[in-house]
Amino acid sequence: MWRYEALLPIEQPNGVARAAGRTPLIRSHALDDAAGCRVYVKDETENPTGSYKDRGSAVAVPHAIEAGTDVIGTISYGNMAISTAAHATSLDRACIVLVPDEISPARLELIAQYEPTIVQVSGDYGALYSDGVALSESLPISILVSDAPARISGYKTAVFEIYESLAPDTPDAIVLPTSSGGFASGVWRGLRDLETLGLLAEFPRLYLVQTVTADPITQAFETGATEPTALSPDETGETIAHSIGNPDPPSGTRALAAVRETNGAVVSVTDQEIRTAQRQFAVDGGFCVEPAAATPLAGLTRLSERDAIAPDESAVVVPTGTGFKELGADDASVSTERTSRAALPELLDSLLAAR
Ligand SMILES: *Cc1c(COP(=O)(O)O)cnc(C)c1O
Repeated sequence: MWRYEALLPIEQPNGVARAAGRTPLIRSHALDDAAGCRVYVKDETENPTGSYKDRGSAVAVPHAIEAGTDVIGTISYGNMAISTAAHATSLDRACIVLVPDEISPARLELIAQYEPTIVQVSGDYGALYSDGVALSESLPISILVSDAPARISGYKTAVFEIYESLAPDTPDAIVLPTSSGGFASGVWRGLRDLETLGLLAEFPRLYLVQTVTADPITQAFETGATEPTALSPDETGETIAHSIGNPDPPSGTRALAAVRETNGAVVSVTDQEIRTAQRQFAVDGGFCVEPAAATPLAGLTRLSERDAIAPDESAVVVPTGTGFKELGADDASVSTERTSRAALPELLDSLLAAR
C-alpha cells in the first residue's frame, strides 16, 4: 500500500506495516450465480493479521508514534485488537488492549500471541468506546479506535488498489460489511481522492451490509435519517458475525452520506444468509472467510433479487477477514471416509468409480 505514500499522512514505516495491503483482486466467475452479477473479490484476508484492519493500523500506529506516543492502546476483542497489537510490537512499542470481562479463551489466545498487556474490563463495554478518547487525553497512551483519522486514511488504499487492478475498467458497485462505519468512511475517502485527482469520472454504487441483529445504519437508511440512532442492548441480538455488531456506530453518519451520494444502499442479512454466503465463498470460490466477511456476498444476493444490480454489472465484494481464526472455536461436525492403509486402494477405487 506504500506505493500510495504521497496520499498518506506518514512515510513508509518499518515493521509489519510493510506487509499490509497490496491484496489480490480476483475475478471469481464461480461466485456470479450466488451474487447475481459479475463478481470481483478484493481479498483482504491476505493482510498480515488476516483482516483489512491492518491497512489502518499500518498508518495509525506509526502516526501515533511520530506524534510522541510510547504506548498504543485499543478497545477491541477482535480483529482490531489483533492488528493493533501486531503493528505496535513490530515497532517495539508497548500495547494495551482493553477487552470485555467475558471474552472467550480462543479470542484471548489470538490477541495474546503478540504479547500486549490485556486488560479485561467489566461493566458496559460498548460505553468504553467514548472513554477511549478521554483516556488518551489524560494519560500517556494513544487509544486507536475505529474512527481514528489516520486509520481511515489507511483504509482508502483498498480503493486505490481496486481501481489500479481493474483499469481501464471500473466497477459498477463496491460491497462491504459495515459495523462502526470506519472502513466505509475510508473507502468513501479513497473514492473522493480519486475524483479530486481527476482519476474517477463516476462513483461506483457503495453497498454496505449489516447483520439484522445490529443494524442501526440500515434502519437509518430505510427511514431516510441522516444519522443512525444507537440501539439499546435489548434491541440487539446474538450473531455469528461478531466482527460487525456495533450498536452505536461512530462513523455511521459518514457511511450513510457515502451510500446516498453514490446511489447505493444499506441492507441487513440474517445469520442463515451469512452461513450460506460463507459456504459459497468456500465451496464455490475457494475462499476461507469469517462470517462478517461473508456478508457482502449475502447482501449482493438480496440486492440482485430486488434488481438493484443487473447480471451484466460488476461488483467488487470485500471479504474483510479470514475464517482461519475461527476454526476450532466450535464443535462443528465433519463427515469423513475412514480406512486402513492396506484397504486404501480399494476405497479410492470405489470413490473414483462413484463419481
Ligand atoms: C472491523 C470489521 C468490519 C467492520 O468494519 P467497520 O470499520 O467497523 O465498519 C467488517 N469485517 C471485519 C472482518 C472486521 O474485522
